[in-house]
Amino acid sequence: MTDEPKSVDEAAILLRAGKLCAFPTETVYGLGADATDPDAVLAIYETKGRPRFNPLIIHCADLAMARTLAEFSPLALKAATLWPGPLTLVLPARPDNGLADVAMAGLDSVAIRIPDHPLALALLAAVGRPLAAPSANPSGRLSPTTAYQVRLGFGGRVPVLDGGPCQAGVESTIVRVEGERLVQLRAGAMARERIEQALGVPVAVAAKDAAIAAPGMLLSHYAPNALLRLDTSPRDGEAFLAFGAVPEFAGPTRNLSPSGDLHEAARNLFAMLHELDALGRPMIAVAPIPDSGLGEAINDRLQRAAAPRG
Ligand code: AMP
Ligand code: MG
Repeated sequence: MTDEPKSVDEAAILLRAGKLCAFPTETVYGLGADATDPDAVLAIYETKGRPRFNPLIIHCADLAMARTLAEFSPLALKAATLWPGPLTLVLPARPDNGLADVAMAGLDSVAIRIPDHPLALALLAAVGRPLAAPSANPSGRLSPTTAYQVRLGFGGRVPVLDGGPCQAGVESTIVRVEGERLVQLRAGAMARERIEQALGVPVAVAAKDAAIAAPGMLLSHYAPNALLRLDTSPRDGEAFLAFGAVPEFAGPTRNLSPSGDLHEAARNLFAMLHELDALGRPMIAVAPIPDSGLGEAINDRLQRAAAPRG
């Protein structure tokens, strides 16, 4: 077991020295590294077992830092008024941005966000450099929403700054700014409707097989050990992940939100999948979730968790 950082300052010292350190954000725990340090960024890919062609989201302390990394068009600046928050913007990279090439997987665009979490913001300010931080879990597995799950996933080999459970519970929404258009590449914790309302700009949805190869976009991802089945009625021997009113079932059950609240469901999603998975049942039946608002992100994660494993 590695020594845990007990404060933001201790975590910042690790990161500034080129070490990895996991930290909380409002979405899920991130596996952080100095995004300007190629060796540190490579350690993220190695630790997660993540394919190198998958670029990382770069976390910034503030807009000034973000503007050193990418070109912000007027529309991008408008979208950035939703920061800090669970919205990642894919923008043209500035050639002189100092980021390690591996962090951007050699692309000429860069994915950036400012997280809405006091510890994450304090850490970014203390490090004073952008941090690459994908979810702090082995590639392809469930994302962690607690420090405990990070320790479990990496067998205690990665230091974790503990900030309690994450509030949003699913990863950020990823939007690419394409000229005068916004295109959602990944549904996430900021509902598409909310972005549209706040900005007064429609957000298109990228085709499912859109070009960017990336973990969150692979068909099978977020996979628990158990298989997942989307169905209203669980069978004997299965575990059940319910939503809203629950049918009679004697087996192990968790309810994402008894009252049918999608925010609560998103917050509980990965934690409850972890809990049910730990029971060792071969199959988890999952109740259907409405596809509006945050339901879009929840259903996206469930479909990928249920997809045939390659
Ligand atoms: P995460 O694993 O949560 O850090 O998310 C990383 C995701 O960001 C990847 O799966 C990609 O979908 C997306 N991403 C990062 N950089 C880019 C980029 N330059 N262009 C398009 N998508 C990107
Ligand atoms: Mg991830």
